[in-house]
Amino acid sequence: MDDHLRDAEMATRAIRVGQRQDVSSQHSEPLVLTSSYFFDDAADAAEKFAGRRAGNVYIRFDNPTVKAFEERLASMEQAEAAVATGSGMSLYMLMAMALLQAGDHVVLGKGMFGTTGYMFNNYYAKFGVTASVVDVADHAGWQRSITPTTRMIIVETPTNPLMSVADLDFLSALAQAHDVILAVDNTLCTPVFQNPIRHGADLTLHSAGKYIDGQGRCGGGVILGRASLIGKIRRALRTFGPSLSPFNAWVFVKGLETLAIRMRVHQSNTEALARWLSEQGLVERIYYTGDPRHPQAALIARQQSGHGGLLSFVLRGGREEAWAVMNRLRFINLTTNIGDTKTMITHPATTTHALTTQKERDEVGITDGLLRISVGLEDIGDIIADLDHALQPCAAAASV
Ligand SMILES: *Cc1c(COP(=O)(O)O)cnc(C)c1O
Repeated sequence: MDDHLRDAEMATRAIRVGQRQDVSSQHSEPLVLTSSYFFDDAADAAEKFAGRRAGNVYIRFDNPTVKAFEERLASMEQAEAAVATGSGMSLYMLMAMALLQAGDHVVLGKGMFGTTGYMFNNYYAKFGVTASVVDVADHAGWQRSITPTTRMIIVETPTNPLMSVADLDFLSALAQAHDVILAVDNTLCTPVFQNPIRHGADLTLHSAGKYIDGQGRCGGGVILGRASLIGKIRRALRTFGPSLSPFNAWVFVKGLETLAIRMRVHQSNTEALARWLSEQGLVERIYYTGDPRHPQAALIARQQSGHGGLLSFVLRGGREEAWAVMNRLRFINLTTNIGDTKTMITHPATTTHALTTQKERDEVGITDGLLRISVGLEDIGDIIADLDHALQPCAAAASV
């Protein structure tokens, strides 16, 4: 008897053996890769398709690994339900598709992630949805911004890169009084340092490729909130299909396991760096929610239990000096991303905000001397030494 399998037998085994492998005793979360799911019988298929029976139907809207991620983060954000998507921006797309219609008005916080404003002004405007912008700290401005057609307030707090904070208790009371949905982007603080739902937000959003992944590998997004709202957004996901890859979900599931300890080190490193920067004569100003001189320090203490890893500062000398410092760095990377184990530096005026005019930038405070640092988890002594080395020639020139 030949001990080689026949080709056909090999083919069938390759497809069938282990198909019903029981993973219930698997200790680490499995990465489940399947685009479809079999049904027990015809009636089971009909019930699951109609949504009358729980169970998986199709990859565009069902995957156990994605579900594990949604459930874990929902529990961390104290949300009833969650939907994950393939990017942060696709969350904003689904949210608008699911909850807005022609004639509706949306108010956006000033300093939001630039692409969000671009989405409303260049795409949703075509469908009759209008958007206005309010400085997150301007309470009278928020009150004036609400019109009879306003359906939604969308804010990021703190803002990036200028670290201005929106008062969520104030905004949720305003939203409730006018029957408006409040959506809060919690990417920067993560559930470790801020819980928008406990402050009255209807929806919380995350770009998951930032701190949730935390190691700069994957992209994705999650929106969380009341089951009734999330159900509508899930329906939009099922229709439009910007689904999260199970692999990315698996990376995020494992990322969540270390989120709290990572956020605490991001925070202690950032605090130490802010203290050091504030002693450097070349540094004109620091933007950091943990700075005791932050104009909103009382609100921050009430709303955030920590400060995360983002900090911006203004160098005397403008663009030339800012670029020179960046170019002298030895290991801090020039990268526009945030929320990585690796420390990264960005010159917002010529990268993330380059599409705005100088006048617009000056108005919002994105000056030519502004640098933003996403502080990583390297030894803080090494991070400071790198910046110290990069600042030295400027300091020497300034003292001549
Ligand atoms: C990065 C980011 C986004 C966009 O998310 P993507 O995953 O890049 O699509 C939205 N909001 C905030 C606060 C972000 O930092």
